[in-house]
Amino acid sequence: MQRRARNIAIIGGGTAGAASALFLSRAGHRVTLFERVDKPSAVGAGILLQPAGMRVLQALGLLDEILAHGARNDRLFGTNARGRTVLDVRYRDWDAQQFGLGLHRGTLFSVLWQAVLAAGIAVRVATAVTRLRQHGEIVELFSDDTPLGDFDGVVIADGARSSLRAALAIPQTVTPYPWGALWTIVPDDGVTTGTLRQWFRHAGQMLGLMSTGYAYQQKNQPLITLFWSLRADRLSHWRSEGLQAWKDEVLALAPIESVLAHINSPEQLTFAGYADVQMRHWHDGRVVCIGDCAHATSPQLGQGANLALVDAAVLAQCLAAQHDIPAAFESYSKRRRSHLRYYQAASKWLTPFFQSDSRLASGLRDALLGPICRAPVARYHMAKTLSGTKTGWLFGDLPHEK
Ligand SMILES: Cc1cc2nc3c(=O)[nH]c(=O)nc-3n(C[C@H](O)[C@H](O)[C@H](O)COP(=O)(O)OP(=O)(O)OC[C@H]3O[C@@H](n4cnc5c(N)ncnc54)[C@H](O)[C@@H]3O)c2cc1C
Repeated sequence: MQRRARNIAIIGGGTAGAASALFLSRAGHRVTLFERVDKPSAVGAGILLQPAGMRVLQALGLLDEILAHGARNDRLFGTNARGRTVLDVRYRDWDAQQFGLGLHRGTLFSVLWQAVLAAGIAVRVATAVTRLRQHGEIVELFSDDTPLGDFDGVVIADGARSSLRAALAIPQTVTPYPWGALWTIVPDDGVTTGTLRQWFRHAGQMLGLMSTGYAYQQKNQPLITLFWSLRADRLSHWRSEGLQAWKDEVLALAPIESVLAHINSPEQLTFAGYADVQMRHWHDGRVVCIGDCAHATSPQLGQGANLALVDAAVLAQCLAAQHDIPAAFESYSKRRRSHLRYYQAASKWLTPFFQSDSRLASGLRDALLGPICRAPVARYHMAKTLSGTKTGWLFGDLPHEK
């Protein structure tokens, strides 16, 4: 049956919003993408793109460009301060063909954004949507008191700090995590090629290094991202201690002098905080929430961008299968439930073992996780979890998104 094109607004031009705009405009809908930033640009740390996210980019025809910019990571490997293996997960234990892709977050943004512009999608930058009103079969959008138009359906993809989510008739909680991370991107001298490397001292110190590939269209200089775990309320203390004191702490944990040599000022390190966003479901009539706005997690499992990409693919499938927008958005919530609940629970459950002051949690982690990583069944499930394709603790597989 030929379906009528719908007039859809997407709020937010990040991973979730841009990918949705592409899928929905390719399906023939009239899409308007609202982005509050005047000149959206390539900012952010390195992210780990998982097989689940790569499948979606392949469906969008963007995977080759992404692969050309990324750095292959086959393994996640972590040791504690005594050199004992705490974490050892290899994608090949799930599927010999698969790997994670270290990618500059700005590269993912740029590739999606350029595809949106090339597709001729109506984009309204420098436009923060501040309010929406549903009545009858339309949703009106506003920026302060300025009307932005009437739409058949609205996709909210405005990120973890959404200003629109709270006004929806959906039970929800937003809980900031006490811990975040400092990050920086510097030239990659090949210190950890192929492995996302982590070092831990209890759960209070965590250092991560991930090869990150190239900045968008700058393939002359490979990059690496450094992450340093920090409690948000200790940020000013960290600043007052000075850069050298921090470098000394890092070097006591890991011999990465060549990486630190690229860091000459504390301003090179940016602090990122996280929040846990829980919503009972993600639809409210003709409005649906996707991406971090709908289900932000801590980054322990490296899934944020992947979940956002899968959201976009599934939302387009639901709109293709159901002409009625509220019914399509309701079916979206049903279809996304098991996948999102699994990764939200797993991220939340793992976080205190890697970012907390609890000696009990880090002691259990150090005693148990290394041996668990050596058991074949556990290796399979851990690698599959990392791949972003699990929908349940024991069983359940994400179908291939097309
Ligand atoms: C330190 C750190 C490390 C991370 N590591 C990983 C990783 O390894 N792997 C991974 O997959 N993910 C990782 N993530 C998370 C990942 O970057 C996000 O989960 C992902 O980009 C989600 O995309 P999104 O589109 O939902 O939100 P965002 O990328 O936040 O995009 C939201 C967009 O909406 C716009 N906007 C906001 N409000 C409005 C408004 N009112 N009107 C119009 N526009 C608006 C914003 O300007 C922005 O462009 C990490 C995040 C951090 C902070």
